[in-house]
Amino acid sequence: MRLAKKLYELQQVDLEIQKQQEILDEISRQLGESEALIKAKGELLAEEKHLAEVEKRQRDVEWESEDLRSTVAKINDKLYSGKVKNPKELLGFDQEAGILKAKLRQKEDELLDVMTEVEATQDRIKLDSECLGKLEGEWQREQEALTRKQAETQGQLGGLNEKRQAVTSEVTPEALEVYEGTRSKKGQAVVRVEQGRCQGCRLTLPVSELQRARAGDLVRCSSCGRILYLG
Ligand SMILES: [Zn+2]
Repeated sequence: MRLAKKLYELQQVDLEIQKQQEILDEISRQLGESEALIKAKGELLAEEKHLAEVEKRQRDVEWESEDLRSTVAKINDKLYSGKVKNPKELLGFDQEAGILKAKLRQKEDELLDVMTEVEATQDRIKLDSECLGKLEGEWQREQEALTRKQAETQGQLGGLNEKRQAVTSEVTPEALEVYEGTRSKKGQAVVRVEQGRCQGCRLTLPVSELQRARAGDLVRCSSCGRILYLG
């Protein structure tokens, strides 16, 4: 009976150890970068890359427009300076200037579109950065809380392991072996007996088993094999 009581105590300690270990495992899973944070960083990086591309496109279009403008100016100079007198040649220049001016208008429209995209991307980056900053702050606080909880749980586990050792030292090696063996097979090794029934399998126990258990023997349920505790 006394032995069964000690094993029951041991079981309570083991259950608590298991509970604390599960908490510790959950904390380990939560420590480290969160998926939301990784996603937000990825999105910001993609927007920054896009901004670099559209800014480069803006510079290219500005250069192309500038080129077209100076070519048109040179042709206009030839057309209106009076140096070229041949009508056929003048007509050619006039047509060329017309084509180039149309191209320039296209470039200027394109430039406006690119500039709009640059501004929109800058706005998105600003919003994304703010969002990321907020997420990082929350994540930091969460990580700190988790680290504190981790240390606390480790401390509790340390205490429980000491308690386990103390309880174990009061149990015979044979009884401990029975306990560990039953625990690995059944999960719960020690069960209470209530109204003559084993609480592990719910079957009514033979009177002889109950008497032996009452007398202080380490008795196992003849049906499910668990250690009986009459306390
Ligand atoms: Zn049983």
